[in-house]
Parts: sequence; C-alpha cells; structure tokens
Amino acid sequence: MTGSEEELDYEALGLKVGLEIHQQLNTRHKLFCGCPTDLTEGEGDKFRRWLRPTRSETGDVDVAALFEYRKGRYYMYLAPYGHHCLVEADEEPPHPINEEAVRIAIAVAKALGSTIVDEVHVMRKLVIDGSNTSGFQRTAIVALGGRISSNGKEYGIQTIVVEEDAARKEGESGPEVDYKLDRLGIPLIEIATAPDIHTPREARDVALAIGMLLRMTGAVKRGLGTIRQDLNVSIVGGAKTEIKGVQELELIEKVVKYEVMRQVSLLKIRDEMAARGITEDMIVLAPVNVTEVFRNTRSKVISRALSQGGVVLALRLPRMKGLIGREVQPGRRFGTELADYVRFWADVQGLFHSDELPNYGITKEEVDAVYRALNADPLADAFVMVAEREERALKALSVIVDRVRQALHGVPEETRAANEDGTTRYLRPRPGKERMYPETDIPPLRVTPELLAEAEKLVPESPEAKLRRLVERYSMSRDLAEKVVADPRLPVIEELIAKYGSSVQPTLIASIFVTIMKGLRGKGVDVDSISEDRIEDLIRLLAEGRMAKEAVEAVLAEMAKDRSLSAEEAAKKLGLINMSVEEAAKVIDEILNANVELVRQRGEGAFGALMGKAMDRLRGKIDGKVVAELLREKIRQILSSAASGQG
Ligand SMILES: [Zn+2]
Repeated sequence: MTGSEEELDYEALGLKVGLEIHQQLNTRHKLFCGCPTDLTEGEGDKFRRWLRPTRSETGDVDVAALFEYRKGRYYMYLAPYGHHCLVEADEEPPHPINEEAVRIAIAVAKALGSTIVDEVHVMRKLVIDGSNTSGFQRTAIVALGGRISSNGKEYGIQTIVVEEDAARKEGESGPEVDYKLDRLGIPLIEIATAPDIHTPREARDVALAIGMLLRMTGAVKRGLGTIRQDLNVSIVGGAKTEIKGVQELELIEKVVKYEVMRQVSLLKIRDEMAARGITEDMIVLAPVNVTEVFRNTRSKVISRALSQGGVVLALRLPRMKGLIGREVQPGRRFGTELADYVRFWADVQGLFHSDELPNYGITKEEVDAVYRALNADPLADAFVMVAEREERALKALSVIVDRVRQALHGVPEETRAANEDGTTRYLRPRPGKERMYPETDIPPLRVTPELLAEAEKLVPESPEAKLRRLVERYSMSRDLAEKVVADPRLPVIEELIAKYGSSVQPTLIASIFVTIMKGLRGKGVDVDSISEDRIEDLIRLLAEGRMAKEAVEAVLAEMAKDRSLSAEEAAKKLGLINMSVEEAAKVIDEILNANVELVRQRGEGAFGALMGKAMDRLRGKIDGKVVAELLREKIRQILSSAASGQG
C-alpha cells in the first residue's frame, strides 16, 4: 500500500524532473501590441467566439476527439478598456515582437551561459481551450543550452523562450467559458531545464535559483500569479507526466513527491491486475441498466438524476475488487482518477464504485442488487455506476473501460494540474508531439550586436555575488542576506536601502520585509495587502525620526487591518508617532518668544535653561537631539538679528 508517510527511494525509482518556469516580464507594453502589461479590474466590452474548427494540420486523434466533445461550447471574452486592442481580439495581425522583452530574455540567457540564436522566429502553438482568441499561442526561442547551479550542483538548461501569456479564465457555466483579455499577450519568459533533477527537494531549489536570477534582472513582474512552474516528472517504468501551474515555490516539493507516489501506486495496480489474470479483453463495455434498483433510493445524487430523466448504468470490472478504492495520492484513489477522466471526456460530474459502497445514501441491499444484476461476484469483482442521461452515462462508461484497460499498461501519459494541497488532477492527454507552425504575420528579429550590447546592461548579478555585496556593503548577516536575495521584493528592498539607508539602518529595512512581515503573516495578518508605497511611507517615518523601530510591527499590523490608513495615521492611532519637526519648532518658538530677554542677557548660555523648558513640553514626543538642534539654531538666529539690529 502507498501510505502518505512511506519514504520513497528516489534514486532506486529513477526519478527525473524537468522544470519549465514561466515568468511575466515587466515590459512597457505587450509582446505583439502596444497595450499595457498590467491587469485591471476595470469595465470593458464583451464579445463571444466559438471554438474554431480543427485545423487540417492537427491530425491528432485526441485533439480531434476533444474538438468533437467541445462542440457547442463558446467563449465569452471580457475586453477591459485600455487593456486590449484589435490584436487581442484577433482582428488585426500582431505587431513585430517587442524588443524590450527579447532584450530581457537575452540578458537572462547570458547569465545562464546559453547560446543565443541569430534570428528570433515567432512560431504558433495550438491552443484548444479558448485561452487565446486566435486559437494558438505565439512563442519564440531566444537561446538554447546553458546551466544553472544550485547547492554546488549544475543543472542543464534546454531552452529560453519568450511567449505571450494567455487570457485569464474567469469562470465557466454550461457551454460558456469566460475569459478576460487583459493578461493575453503579456510577455513571458519560459526557461526549461533538462530532466537533471533527481529529488523533490532539488526541484524546489532549482526553481528557487532560477526565480532569484529572474528577479535580479529587475525587469520581471512581482506577486502571486506572475510566476508559474510546470513540472515534468517520471520514474523508471512510469510515464512522463506534465504538471501545470504550480504557483507557489513551497508546493513544488510536495507535488513531485505525490506524483512519484501516484506513479508507484499505478504500477502496483498494474502488477496486481496481471497477478489476478486480468486481460484487456475482460474489460468490456457491457453496461447494465440498474435504474429499477434505485427507484426508491435515499441517494440524493441518484434520485436527482432520475427525476431529470436519467438512468443508472452499471459496469462490471472483473477481479478488480479493492483496486478502484486503492489510494494513489493522499485523499485520491484510482476511482478519483476514473472520475477525472469521466468529467473531462464525457462531461459527467461523477461516478460511484463498489469499493466505496455502501455510502452516500446507497444501501447494502442496493449494492447487493447491483452485483446480482451484473451477474458479478461480490468477493472478487468491482463495479462502477453512473447516474445520468443515458447517452452521457454510456459515454462515461466507455471512458472508464478505456482508462481501466490503460491501467494494465501502468501510467498513462498525461498533462495534469496541481491542486492546492500538492496532489494533482487530470487535465488532458499529453500532446503526442508539440506541433509548431511559423507565424507568417511577424518578421523574424535579427539579433544584432547592438541588441546584444543593450542586453548586456541587464545581465543580472549572480545570486552569490549579490549575497556577498549585501553582507559586505550593508553589514547584513549571511542569514539575513540570503532571505533578502530569496525575497520576491528584492528590487524594492534594494531601492529603499539606496534611498533611506543613510538614516535608517539597511538591516532594519531588510528585516521589515523578510522578518517582521513574515512573522506577522505567520500570525495570520494580511500584510500582503500593504502596498509598497505604504511601506515606503513607514520607512520615511523612521528616517525622519518620527517613529521608533520598536513600533514597526504594531504599525504594520494596524495598516494591514485598515487599508485606508497611511503609515502616519496608523502610528498616530496607536500613539506611536512622534511630533513632526515643524510642530516641535512651533513649540520652541513659543518658548523663545516668552524668553527673548533671557537670550539677550545670557546669549548662548541660555541654552541649558531653555532646553529644560522645551523638554518639559516635548519629552517623549520627539527625539531630544532634534529639540537641541532646533533650539541652538533659533538662539543663534535671535542673537544674530539682535547683533545686526544694534549695528
Ligand atoms: Zn493590444
């Protein structure tokens, strides 16, 4: 059995992982038009499109079947004002490729020691889910080869590509799928590694190293959703599985581990099917209509289906008892894998299988009756059951027959999507061989010496060099410097240190991001809602001596609680703000006005007495040093004006 706690021997299993890192670039405009590259919540127009008919070039059976199944489906595109033009709507040819994006990609390629192409050719890659209005994604190889190092080991880079991001999926209801066009066309850099990674931990570390390098160009977008990792995972005897859309770095390790678990489990199921003498011709589509068994059922799912004119079809799976309920990933069974297929290929929302019954309102008597109707052996056989309109139920069962037959061969080649808990679900079959066609609307871009020289200016420092610089120049501990280099807001931290580092300790500025905010986040405070501008306001208060560093945590927490508060307002609300220098100056003016005679008599000797008076009123509200400076300055002014008045 595959328990979630089982230790897997990755070396013995021959684990191979390759990464594809997709990162949005922070260019001024999109890859093939002049639209901006930020997302919006603003209003816009809507238009509707149907999926285009299969192109003749795509002879792929799976894709053809998919088109067939998706027939009747349509896409609703929300086109927010100012964030789309005729290019996104596929009503105007794309403009020449954005050179700024190519420049950034070349800079990254140089840092990775990759070989840069002489000419950048834009290609089309078929897209079948409507996420691109044109029916394909435009992509261009910029460099090949290279390496990235992590923990003293080197990992091969295969390709560095720039491509357009897809439209944002907003929802789905019935035949309608909703997309938003603001994201479509934002430039992405895609870095694909060789399958040189052999443990889940290494996968995380290599992704981290690439992510750090990208951020160090200072030319990539920040924040959730701007970087996405795809993983290719395989073990010996298993299959190369492509896992899409892992957004969080911390999830990578888990996703790889769970995928290995799944492949190991599927191989065990294969072996057990063989041991039980199950062959392909025993798995046949011979459904039995068991609707009568469920006429008075307490199962809500079944009675709802029946009331809508559905039927219950059952299918015997000979000698499969216990295998459908076999866990393949934590909380996911082989039956869950079947359900994924049924959802995708037959548009049927679920199935029942004998290993989980009686349950869900289905009684033991009903289960026994189904076994009898199927002429099946309750001690050896399993069954699956679908409650749906007859045609769809039948389609669902034929999908199950196909998938169970595949189980005899082990792990099918699949593209999967990552769930939030690190498990994965079936997304679609893996494309046989990725078909690409030249994009004839866009001329190739020559990589000239000028372009290379421009890119050279963007080549990022290596993470190691950056680390050393932080330690040496700003006296950071190595531990703090490592956290700063790994932080997505590294460029912001550096910018703030450059701006305020002379009056606020650089280590304090760094700690605000990587220690204090992290600690608050751990306590459930939504610090990520605090914009960078508001954090800068807070640092400015520190720089002006108006707030003690001890107050930073409390003020940040208050700012997270109430997004309308500026740093100053939050600090005031908590009574943690100092008086401004102007306010203090007013108080000192008042004191001096009342004591002009004293100053005239004693000159600078009046300072001590006046300082005492000033501190009586200002103690605890502003730094004593500031008061002393102000007071000296004002005394000098009075004396010099008195002197010039006399002269
Ligand atoms: Zn546009």
